[in-house]
Amino acid sequence: LVSTGFGFGAKYVVGTSADFPPFEYVENGEFVGFDIDLIKAIAEEMDFEIEIRDMSFDSLIAALASGNIDIVISGMTITPEREEVVSFSKPYWTADQSVVVRDDSELTVTVLFGKHNIGVQTGTTGDLWVEDNLVKTKILTGDFKRYDTYVLAMTDLVNKNIDAIVLDAPVAESFAKVRPVKIVGVIKTYEDYGIAVNKSNKDLLNLINEGIARLEESGRLNELNLKHF
Ligand code: GLN
Repeated sequence: LVSTGFGFGAKYVVGTSADFPPFEYVENGEFVGFDIDLIKAIAEEMDFEIEIRDMSFDSLIAALASGNIDIVISGMTITPEREEVVSFSKPYWTADQSVVVRDDSELTVTVLFGKHNIGVQTGTTGDLWVEDNLVKTKILTGDFKRYDTYVLAMTDLVNKNIDAIVLDAPVAESFAKVRPVKIVGVIKTYEDYGIAVNKSNKDLLNLINEGIARLEESGRLNELNLKHF
């Protein structure tokens, strides 16, 4: 186990996929974003240390289950499938999915139908949504491409290798500010983000939930909100 104890200065390894602005990304060689500030604030409040480790989104749950990391904060949606493997904190955010195309594209939300090429990040709720609703139903007949990171997907979209990406709405908005892409539709999925820990780590989960509650109470969570959104 990576952890050295419980609370009181214990050190926990936090896994994240730092390509999900404004929740987690790298700026000047540092991990920054809402999630990064949130886990730092919880650690400070509850008196533990953290070390942040960047990994592909798709490997986070397995790393947590095997004990390679202690905590996941990565804009991760609480889903019944994931809850079978790991435990989630109470929700700290709610998001929907957005459909993004190139700025110069004539395509609308109907890009999801017929012979278009759609990209997602592997293992995300966007991936599952497209698979279940468009691929299995054969509503989408073009290519369905999965990427390790949204950064790679965005580059492929800009290079005209795919026609659209389905991804979490707040992150789509973030990318639209810095890349030549725009949002043409929102899919109301009402996803709750939670912080995940190993199922056997009830104490750590309590610590995190207590931390979130205190930050809510003190208004600090709201300050983080204003800072990043
Ligand atoms: N919220 C989405 C999910 O949990 C995407 C998260 C992400 O890509 N970091 O699958």
